[in-house]
Amino acid sequence: MKLFPFHRPHFFKKPLQGVMGVLLSAGLLVSNVTYANADMERLSLSLPTSAMNVAKETDSPHNTNTLTKRQFTIGRNQTLSHAIDGVNNAPGMAFQIARLENAAFFTQLRVGDTLDIWTDADNNLQRIDLQKTRLLSYHLTRENDTFTISSQEKPVETRIQIIQATIDDSLYLSAKAAGLSSRTIMNLADIFAWEIDYIRELRTGNELKLIYEQRFLNNEYLEDGKIIAAEMTVGQRPRTVRAIRYENQGELIGYFDENGDNLRKAFMRNPINYTRISSRFQKGRYHPVLQEIRDHKGVDYAAPTGTPIYAAGDGTIKFRGWGNGYGNYIIIQHAGRYETVYGHMSRFGKFRQGQTVKQGEVIGYVGMTGLATGPHLHYEFRIDGVHHDPLTVKFPNAEPIQADLRDDFLQHASLMVAQFERNSDDTTKLAMRFE
Ligand SMILES: [Zn+2]
Repeated sequence: MKLFPFHRPHFFKKPLQGVMGVLLSAGLLVSNVTYANADMERLSLSLPTSAMNVAKETDSPHNTNTLTKRQFTIGRNQTLSHAIDGVNNAPGMAFQIARLENAAFFTQLRVGDTLDIWTDADNNLQRIDLQKTRLLSYHLTRENDTFTISSQEKPVETRIQIIQATIDDSLYLSAKAAGLSSRTIMNLADIFAWEIDYIRELRTGNELKLIYEQRFLNNEYLEDGKIIAAEMTVGQRPRTVRAIRYENQGELIGYFDENGDNLRKAFMRNPINYTRISSRFQKGRYHPVLQEIRDHKGVDYAAPTGTPIYAAGDGTIKFRGWGNGYGNYIIIQHAGRYETVYGHMSRFGKFRQGQTVKQGEVIGYVGMTGLATGPHLHYEFRIDGVHHDPLTVKFPNAEPIQADLRDDFLQHASLMVAQFERNSDDTTKLAMRFE
């Protein structure tokens, strides 16, 4: 079983760059373009294929003048003024545009933005089009001497998809083969990160079912949307875990199991992406540096120097400093009776003693300060001052679904569970692919 390559709780999620790389290159050779804009008349532009940058307007009902288009791509330190340089009274035009409503669409340009600049036979600016993303375009239009700036968003259709996959060698590859995007697979892994230990629990033959959204533009697949519900069967003696997304008044409340329990725990099981566990919690361990028998009151995670260490749960930095044996270490005080301890850091993160931290925030980096034979995190979990094995201690759940939403949630959850159960009747255990 290969390790799942993206094992990390959901707060480590970084926004993907751009919108799935959907920036449309604006220099396409188009022989016929039809423009539909709610705010303006429909223009049909026939562009001669022989000359990319010159186009004639053939059948506009309002304007029989010939319009000429040229393209300008914004470079470093360039602005709208550079783009319209050369049109009549360019500085005055730039000034006028900057004072219009929605001016920011054209004054806050980015390197790479490509503007279509339309001028009439007298070289007067008539129109500017900017395809900002595949879905979003900005337009400057002229009616007599009045300019208007508007935006236009293409309608995206959301469809619900259901997939079922048997996990083969890796969760990632199996989910990918079933048609899920990388981002959806990450989200899925994040949702179950507290519930499933992907490294230790996943087995070949384990199963995944997913109900999720896909977004389409003009019947063309655009991207995956939200995960609506997920079910995974994991382990040697398989157990089934479910996650059901719940929103209230358009706001995400969270993912819960079918009983309304939060899938998040108040603590992360492992506060680090580790290479291996080099020493477990045990009584009477031979200490490699002190060369004597001592209890090992925590767990050691071997990881390269500099690996980030995360706060296992929300809390306050109770101590940050030097301790004999511990080297650079931190104690976090959590709500109630819980404390976590992180030792041997090479350096601390930005949080100082007395400051509050959220689960998953970086509090320091792996090192080998204090008594250590190699870089690792020494991690302790204390309840009422008593040490517990961080790998097996039972964690409290994060807050369950709030009481006044519970009935509504349960009703919604039962529909999702019914959907999963209907699905399991499928005789074929292969992933259902969709077109
Ligand atoms: Zn240790």
